[in-house]
Amino acid sequence: MATSRSAGAVRVHAYESDARSYHVNAHWVESDQGIVLIDTLLLKSDARRLAEKLKATAKPLLAILITHPHVDHFSGTGVLRAAFGPVPVCATRATADGMLRAMAKATAQGWLKALGDDHDPDVVLPDCVLEPDAEVTLGNLAFRVLDLGGMESENNTVFHLPAAGVLFGGDATVSNAVYFVGDGRSQKALDGLRQLASRFAADTSVYSGHYRPETLGALLRENTRQIERMREVMNAVRAEPGALTDAGQLTAAARSRAVQALVGAAEQREGYGMDPRAVASMNLQELMREWRESRQAHAAAAGNEARPQ
Ligand SMILES: [Zn+2]
Repeated sequence: MATSRSAGAVRVHAYESDARSYHVNAHWVESDQGIVLIDTLLLKSDARRLAEKLKATAKPLLAILITHPHVDHFSGTGVLRAAFGPVPVCATRATADGMLRAMAKATAQGWLKALGDDHDPDVVLPDCVLEPDAEVTLGNLAFRVLDLGGMESENNTVFHLPAAGVLFGGDATVSNAVYFVGDGRSQKALDGLRQLASRFAADTSVYSGHYRPETLGALLRENTRQIERMREVMNAVRAEPGALTDAGQLTAAARSRAVQALVGAAEQREGYGMDPRAVASMNLQELMREWRESRQAHAAAAGNEARPQ
């Protein structure tokens, strides 16, 4: 499915995939001089359909920008390159550095196998490195690059197009869906959302990596509230008597209660086409890991203070 919206001479389009590829979006910006594509989808079949839409404009593809190192956002790059030739693939160093790790992790988890030939396991690494706080001009489109660090993935880059008043948020933000903290960074995600609030106007239109566009102010309020709620749910369950093993892991019974509570806290939000319990389990596992790591860091700091100098 594709939707489009125009702001002056610039048009923003979305390619929205379905549940088979977690409702991931690619966006493209069209000016009179050409097209800039943001992210390249998960499946080869979607990337081919996207390439056809871009070809139909009869305009040159000026560059591909990658928002973050998760395979559903960069796996279609090879298909786009095959269709358009060697267009620059641009990302910050921190995003580029995470891509091979992300592909290895997704491969090890086994779920890519189910996609068969419709997924390209060869990572096309960026050949155009963006500074983490740079301005990049492609044709007559001037983008501001901002690296937010680890949030939903190990690095989340956003691209601001001031001329159109839009921000391409990747998965730093998500509208009407469960925020994925499955890479263990709920605190950093909250920090990143605060950075967005301090850098961009609340009425900026944000095109997120999944689901529909939304204004920044509404997204930040909603995403912040739901991440804080997830942390509260996890903290409440693990603080119950007998909830933890000696190693600081939740017992099976406590885990089951926590998953149930997280599913309840997710209310009617979208879950990327996955079982809500599966999304809750992934988030819970990493919320717990993050909690254990912060507890260990505090213990180590306290130990250092107690030690005679
Ligand atoms: Zn994603």
